[in-house]
Amino acid sequence: MNTLFTVSVRRISHVCTLKPYKETKWLMPYGNPTGIYVYNCVANQRVPVILSDPHIATWYSCGPTVYDSAHIGHASCYVKLDIIQRILKSFFNVNLVTAMGITDIDDKIIKRGLETNTHFTNIAKQYESEFWLDMNSLNIEKPLIITRVSEQIDCIASFVKKLIDSELAYVSKTGSVYFDTSKFPSYGKLSRMQDEGEPSDEEKKNKMDFAVWKGHKPGEPYWDVPWGSGRPGWHIECSAMVSKVFGSQLDFHAGGIDLRFPHHENEEAQSCAYHNSRQWANYWIHVGHLQVKGDTKMSKSLKNTISIPELLKTYSADTFRMACLTSNYRYSMEYTDAAMENAEEVLNKFKFFLKDAIVYINNNTATHPCQYKDSILKELQKVQDGNIEALKTDFDTATCINNMLNLISSTNKIIKNDSSGYYPVTVTLIVEYITGVLTKFGLKLQDGSQENIFSDMLIDTLVEFRHTVRLNALSKKDKELLNACDIVRDKMKSIKVQINDSNKTPSWVLIK
Ligand SMILES: [Zn+2]
Repeated sequence: MNTLFTVSVRRISHVCTLKPYKETKWLMPYGNPTGIYVYNCVANQRVPVILSDPHIATWYSCGPTVYDSAHIGHASCYVKLDIIQRILKSFFNVNLVTAMGITDIDDKIIKRGLETNTHFTNIAKQYESEFWLDMNSLNIEKPLIITRVSEQIDCIASFVKKLIDSELAYVSKTGSVYFDTSKFPSYGKLSRMQDEGEPSDEEKKNKMDFAVWKGHKPGEPYWDVPWGSGRPGWHIECSAMVSKVFGSQLDFHAGGIDLRFPHHENEEAQSCAYHNSRQWANYWIHVGHLQVKGDTKMSKSLKNTISIPELLKTYSADTFRMACLTSNYRYSMEYTDAAMENAEEVLNKFKFFLKDAIVYINNNTATHPCQYKDSILKELQKVQDGNIEALKTDFDTATCINNMLNLISSTNKIIKNDSSGYYPVTVTLIVEYITGVLTKFGLKLQDGSQENIFSDMLIDTLVEFRHTVRLNALSKKDKELLNACDIVRDKMKSIKVQINDSNKTPSWVLIK
């Protein structure tokens, strides 16, 4: 591994109106090296992960703007981030303090509220709770700290005020506040984009200036602040919320690759300005897009989205996670039936191996076990070392999966060949290792099909509804309604679902 850290300047060719950023510089933090190397967009190469406390790290992920249902593009981003977080925790013993900001005040939420004649806070609450259900169905661990813009207005306003007071931001004639990028020489260090040309908006002093506060417009929610009234801009919320929770610096800052510019560029600029520091987030983790039909990004505006419940009707959460594990988190991942079937096939190879191995270990007919198969144990050690090395190299899970597929293929040669001897101890060690790694990656490895989960949820809903109706009928002595409840109970029993009415909370069991 290249341990020499040198900074290189990347040429950009895709943006002709902006000139390349000249002074790319990532500052190596002081502290304890973890041995992990992660790609950093400021350095444009892998850099060593160094933590001030060897076993504690802070992590902030930009959360969703809750104006609509999440789709599998969001799913791939958050599953991949979940995998990286689990790796840091389970393979490198890092106590990760995770936080996520929810954007619950935004143009799109306000627009949706107006369209549906619903208060925007109700729109946000509805889609936020749906988001957590979706994340749970994908076995994504919930962040330890959740912040919402609506609950942090004071903190955001005082952040903006400090920028105005230190003349790093200015108030426009409409009451909006813009960050003055000309006062911040490092602007562009993440994306290598820099000011060039005249600003397109007459409110702005410089082309790259961005709104940290939006002046009040009629019909929109607003808050009174010393310089007028209005609401927070999008970028400022993450900076203010992170600073409130983690102080003047954080270790990991994560999100989709589309957030690198302008969102993260702006977050870094205003946070460095606010804290008077040269580097705010030490490690930027950017996840590649999920693409459909070749190189098309999945997005709401392109109307090519698939919801997470829709995905789970066809493929299990484990299959989707395996697709994420076998692709590099930084690059785009293709969502096609062929790609998903391939992931399912890889997952099944592991599942079948684990089943076959358990049968082999519990073989009653075998006598004279040979405890150790040296060649396989050597291969196991090689895979263990190789996997740690791969994970240290920018969380290369695809190599780990490949290493383990090779290991099961060697082990299968013993399991499926009676004449090679009986090695229960060796095979148990392999089973233990593979199950451990896959579980640490967040795979559940259960057979519970989505149909079963769905029907359980359906029965839960029906039983709870009947329970409420029945309690109501009992209190009003409504015989007709009680009779209807009994009919539901008997019908459910005829399809092998027995409802228990004797408890305060309703319960049910499947009967034979
Ligand atoms: Zn953010």
